[in-house]
Amino acid sequence: MSTMNTVGRPTTPNTLPDNDYKHPTLTGGRGLLQDEALIFEGEGWGKTGVDLPTPKTDGSDLGDLVRRDPIGLPGLSEPEAMRHYVRLSQKNHAIDLAIYPLGSCTMKHNPRLNEKMARLAGFSDIHPLQPQSTVQGALELMDTLSHWLTTLTGMPAVALSPKAGAHGELCGLMAIRAAHEAKGEHEQRRKVLVPTSAHGTNPATAAFVGYSVVEVAQTDDGRVDVADLASKLGPDVAAIMVTNPNTCGLFERDIMEISRLTHEAGAYFYCDGANFNAIVGRVRPGDLGVDAMHINLHKTFSTPHGGGGPGAGPVVLSEALAPFAPAPWVVNTGDGYKLVEREEDEAEQAFGRLCAFQGQMGMYVRALSYMMSHGSDGLRQVAEDAVLNANYIKARLEDLMSPAFPDGPCMHEALFDDEWLKGTDITTLDFAKAMIDEGFHPMTMYFPLVVHGAMLIEPTETESKAELDRFIHAMRLLAQAAKDGDVERFKGAPFHAPMRRLDETRAARSPKLRWVKPEGSNHAA
Ligand SMILES: *Cc1c(COP(=O)(O)O)cnc(C)c1O
Repeated sequence: MSTMNTVGRPTTPNTLPDNDYKHPTLTGGRGLLQDEALIFEGEGWGKTGVDLPTPKTDGSDLGDLVRRDPIGLPGLSEPEAMRHYVRLSQKNHAIDLAIYPLGSCTMKHNPRLNEKMARLAGFSDIHPLQPQSTVQGALELMDTLSHWLTTLTGMPAVALSPKAGAHGELCGLMAIRAAHEAKGEHEQRRKVLVPTSAHGTNPATAAFVGYSVVEVAQTDDGRVDVADLASKLGPDVAAIMVTNPNTCGLFERDIMEISRLTHEAGAYFYCDGANFNAIVGRVRPGDLGVDAMHINLHKTFSTPHGGGGPGAGPVVLSEALAPFAPAPWVVNTGDGYKLVEREEDEAEQAFGRLCAFQGQMGMYVRALSYMMSHGSDGLRQVAEDAVLNANYIKARLEDLMSPAFPDGPCMHEALFDDEWLKGTDITTLDFAKAMIDEGFHPMTMYFPLVVHGAMLIEPTETESKAELDRFIHAMRLLAQAAKDGDVERFKGAPFHAPMRRLDETRAARSPKLRWVKPEGSNHAA
């Protein structure tokens, strides 16, 4: 076993079992990938990559604020800095490397046209505190994006500022709470109903806003159990939160009945719109009776995703909730564009603000660039191709693996359970790790929770048939190996990744976020 150093990184990373590498490498490097130390563990404390002129002042005007100790930053030359970060980037997967089949996450190609547009100086070099008369183009872009989002969803209003899907959920539930407060019903409506298959952010958001969460059962065919929902709806319910298509990759057939029952009970219908990619251009959530829905621009509208953001989760709102939308929003006065920023006048019912400024401008530019380059016909084709691709994967794997809901087509993601692994001693986790060795990022595992050992695969429309075939080929070889009892291949995997199996729970529960200087080291403090 390796020992851990102060930052929890194995000091001898090459801990491969004998049955894998007969000849573990001597340095920890692998196949042109060198082992990468933390930047603080390097040697370069005494150097700098830039040559700054000697300051003309002696710092005496800083008084007490003058620094007494060295600042404690490692020093690297430009090539060293470059290599450090490029090597780190090579330890991770990226959508620019290969298919990223994470179900529910909609990891699609980020068109470079979007990047070019986002870098136009008129968008990238402006400041949120500039006078509005000087940023009319940016405001027009926000107005145009709002128009596309409301048109695609068939909803009258949109709050652009939320910065992620989960933030959008918070926005939607806060608007719902404000609407109940305005009607004097907030005190009695304390519950939010959430199906068992929901994304974890749904119950978390409801709880965060102060509601108690009540689970709604699911039918055997993976949909909301309408009878169970009806029995739980009542004058104490503020809202339901339903995803459509749901996280089993299935369209909620009874969606009209679900929204009718919800409204009849005086509650609002929050739709988690993270799966909008499956229906964009084909179905308008407004027509389904939805009152609020977030749209992850970083999923459906191709803005970069992951790495902690920035994302963007605008929320479309129904007539009933629109008055409670948070500031700010853009108004076209006919004589230019105006930002309504304060909770007075036109915005007197707004529940407040969600963030300091206007949201993620760069994401707005990328999303609108994506929309305009596809056109409305192209966006419709996005949904159609995303669904076609998922069904192709399902059809090509269902003889070897077990689809969780075999009857009928799926929407944008193919969901398998671990029934087909029974008796092999191989788990979903083992299978996923073996995929890494074959050069493929695993699908989403163990989600949705209602499916045992779930494997949720979302190819998106941006994968070509050739790429899907390569993925399917690897999956079939692995599935066959599992069935043939090649247990070692799975139990020890990944053998070829820079890091082996990590204790993810421990990493999440007790992350080491600080570098501690080793005792007796002569590194500058
Ligand atoms: C991604 C996702 C969310 C949360 O969106 P973030 O932008 O990651 O906060 C919520 N619900 C579903 C179904 C999702 O897939």
